Amino acid sequence: EGAINRIAAGEVVERPASAVKELVENALDAGARRIEVAIADGGKTLIRVSDDGCGIAGGDLPLALSRHATSKIDGSDLLNIHSFGFRGEALPSLGAVGRLSITSRAAGEDAAAVSVTGGRIGPVKPAALSRGTIVELRDLFHATPARLKFMRSDRAEAQAVMDVVKRLAMAEPFAGFTLRDVTGGGEGRVSFRAEAETGDMFDALQGRLGRILGREFAENSIAVDAEREGLHLTGYAALPTYSRGSGVAQYLFVNGRPVRDKLLIGALRGAYADFLSRDRHPAAALFIDCDPQLVDVNVHPAKSEVRFRDPGLARGLIVSALRHALAEAGH
Ligand code: ADP
Ligand code: MG
Repeated sequence: EGAINRIAAGEVVERPASAVKELVENALDAGARRIEVAIADGGKTLIRVSDDGCGIAGGDLPLALSRHATSKIDGSDLLNIHSFGFRGEALPSLGAVGRLSITSRAAGEDAAAVSVTGGRIGPVKPAALSRGTIVELRDLFHATPARLKFMRSDRAEAQAVMDVVKRLAMAEPFAGFTLRDVTGGGEGRVSFRAEAETGDMFDALQGRLGRILGREFAENSIAVDAEREGLHLTGYAALPTYSRGSGVAQYLFVNGRPVRDKLLIGALRGAYADFLSRDRHPAAALFIDCDPQLVDVNVHPAKSEVRFRDPGLARGLIVSALRHALAEAGH
């Protein structure tokens, strides 16, 4: 059982950033409005995600840690996925690749905690916590040295964690996020913070974009808002004159889920084909929203690829909406 768990776990948890992604998504699914992420040594020795979400009742803690146990979906509903999680794989996978402990308090319940070591779930114990959930993952891949070898420097892993936190922060502007580096113990150093945004969706998104991509981007981008056959495209895209400096600043979301999809990235590039001389990565934060029936998010366990029922439609929408918006802005 342990060995099988560890093999399957590799699918979901490849590095600290993928663990952080799963844990922050769980916090968001739990309705959290404040999420704190702390990492030590690039997340290799410690990842801690604290939230103020709905919590887990003590009696449900062992279930939450069992494979394919999810509170978010009932088999009949696989096509109508609104939450980030739906497989019930993350917590058991994390429990198989590191020392996992969960402390949680659901409304009207006492706080409780449980630990998992080597895939073995310990007893549920009383704990102290005012609300929400704290998940700690220590010593990632300590039991699988082969995987440990594949991890990059602390700095590179911390950077990947930051990237994941920023993507999810972009997806949920109404939630507040803090990322701390607690290497060496103590309060640590805040490496990213975004207060919860207010106002309507566009206000909130603009505020969050400024926070993540910088004022420079906010002032040199255009709003996009288009619809075609049930696919809605909204967001902001950089003017061709915007220089993003180093690093890729492309944030793409499908039904609120951060994706890194080749088709969408290609469409974005296609929209700027006339302008791209050196920079082949136009900066943008784009959100596609549609009926879940029109898109399959179930392609890969890491869930960053999607499959549109009509890929040409998605591509056409992005290319034409962006070209139109750029033309309107005089480009
Ligand atoms: P999934 O997210 O696919 O349901 P997970 O293994 O990530 O599977 O989580 C299992 C279950 O544990 C979730 O369905 C949820 O009920 C519970 N859970 C996990 N993290 C949290 C959290 N931060 N707050 C509240 N409940 C949580
Ligand atoms: Mg999950």
